[in-house]
Amino acid sequence: MAKIAKKIKTIRINADECNGCRACEVICSAFHATPKYSSINPARSRIRILRYPLKDIWVPVFAGEYAPSECMGRDRYVIDGKEYEECAFCRAACPSRSAFREPDSGLPLKCDMCEGEEEPLCVQSCLNQVLIFEEREEEAEEQEEQEELEIGLDSLANKYGLDKLRDTIARMSIKS
Ligand code: SF4
Ligand code: SF4
Repeated sequence: MAKIAKKIKTIRINADECNGCRACEVICSAFHATPKYSSINPARSRIRILRYPLKDIWVPVFAGEYAPSECMGRDRYVIDGKEYEECAFCRAACPSRSAFREPDSGLPLKCDMCEGEEEPLCVQSCLNQVLIFEEREEEAEEQEEQEELEIGLDSLANKYGLDKLRDTIARMSIKS
């Protein structure tokens, strides 16, 4: 099986340094507004800051994959004697809560690493160096890449319909 180089992008979170300023939420929601930068609504942000002001706790959490059903078991974390509510660290939009959902349409939100930008905007806007952007290359089997592509296309087809997806790809290939 042929090997190919795959780019992995991650954001390391130094949660201890976060002061809860929420600049990351502001820039993320502005970047994802339509048209871009036309409004600020942290409910549209793909990063949210868990806030327990009375306990002096601020923890950044990034929106992850959509989960179509509720999970059967939930976690309650206790760290350094501080207790966090159920689902606090979960990154999924799921039917049991409103986190990481587009406020107007209810569609699930997911961090896209600010597609098209050199460096994620939340990273650039964090003055405390809480969010550190890291990029590395990994070798992957060609088949693995193909499977990922199929999963991605499958979820887009489910969301927008196969016809719309086919039209969009056809339009894009004419442009390029
Ligand atoms: S911008 Fe940085 S310090 Fe401010 S809330 Fe976001 S992660 Fe925390
Ligand atoms: S990387 Fe971009 S899309 Fe993801 S949370 Fe940060 S600003 Fe939002």
